[in-house]
Parts: sequence; C-alpha cells; structure tokens
Amino acid sequence: MERIEKSAVVKALAADESELERINKQALRPLKGEEVFAFRLAACDNQVDRDLERFTEDTLEELAKLFVGKPVLLDHQWSAEKQVARIYAAGTEGEGERLRLILRCYMPRNEATAAVIAAIEAGLLRECSVGCAVEKAVCSICGSDKARKRCGHTPGQEYDGQACHVELSGARDAYEVSFCAVPCQREAGVVKKYGGEDAPEDGDGAPGGQGTAAPQEEAEIGKALALLELERYA
Ligand SMILES: [Zn+2]
Repeated sequence: MERIEKSAVVKALAADESELERINKQALRPLKGEEVFAFRLAACDNQVDRDLERFTEDTLEELAKLFVGKPVLLDHQWSAEKQVARIYAAGTEGEGERLRLILRCYMPRNEATAAVIAAIEAGLLRECSVGCAVEKAVCSICGSDKARKRCGHTPGQEYDGQACHVELSGARDAYEVSFCAVPCQREAGVVKKYGGEDAPEDGDGAPGGQGTAAPQEEAEIGKALALLELERYA
C-alpha cells in the first residue's frame, strides 16, 4: 500500500525545559528556549474519518515511533519546498474511545522562519497534511485487504446494519508533514495512491484512484468537515 495523506491541526506549544531536552536530541547543537518555536499537530486518530478509514490503535503507536526525526515542510505557496521544522517527539493521547496521534515539532526562531511562526501564532497556518504508509487497508465487513483485493464492500454502505469502513493497519513508513497555505481541502489533505473501492470500476486497481465524489459521498464529506471544524481547537 502506497503513501496516504491525512490533514492535521497545528497549535503552538510552550517549549519548557523538558521539551527542550527532547528537542536537543534532534538538534545539531544545544538550543536555548528563546531560540526555539515549538508546536504540536493533532495528526490522525482511531475514529472513522472523512475517507471512511480509521487507523487502528496499534498503527497509531507504530506511526508515533516512525515520525520522530521526520521533517516538516512548507507548502510551495509559502516558500520553496523546504524543511522548516522537525518532529522531535510523538505519542498518542486518548479521551474515552478516541486515541489521537500527536506530533510535537520545533523550528529555530530566525529571520527565515519569522513569517511562519507569526502565521502559526495568529492561527492562519493551522493545518498540515501528514504522509504515511501502512501495510493493510482492511475491510471492516469481511476482513479482506482492500489494497490487494477487491471484496465488493463499499465504505459507507451498510451491510446487515453494519457500516463498512476501512481499517488502516501495520505502519510501514512515515514521511513528512507539510503545511497547507490554505485550509486543506479534500484534495490537499487526502491523497489516495492505492487501488481500492474508489478506483474506477473497470480499472485494474492501479495507483491513482482519486475519483470525483458521488453525491452521497459529498454529503458524508460535508458532515465530516463540519466535525473537523468543531475539533479544530480541541
Ligand atoms: Zn469486504
């Protein structure tokens, strides 16, 4: 299964002593508190998302380990694709049934990063896309790996009263995080690069199955987007 991307929510973070200690494990030279700007990203969680997919709890834990040390890049609309920050710590945080992958990132405070830091602090730059790869995309109805085999169950449809979704399991790789200059639209935040239910019916399951959303799917996306909006400052 190839790279998948999810949107994430950005929030400034106080770089206190314990954070600084972790940051300095990634830095080339010891940094002082005033030299650093830290922020956190609520990346993905174990709930069924707007793509009708969910990461399993184990996968979130695996992704947390894989993301440490990975770069945070700027969208081309902010600057050339360049690394502005680095992930120095990652872990899961839970409330009730919900488990979220939280990435903690830092960047140096300097002339080059001043505009980005100001934009994060002002809440203008608050969304990111997070890229990762998992081994399996398992159908919640029949357990088939949809990345490899078409099982005929469509995510979002009900089968004997059970709504089908896809379980993303087995973290394989974590790539980078990219800031989105404009709030991530579906196209920006979520890019499918594996064959699956949304690949063309007559297709061969080849990568690139990002199709036009059907009306029913649009309604689901609208609902999910409204939820995301509510969760933005959670
Ligand atoms: Zn199935």
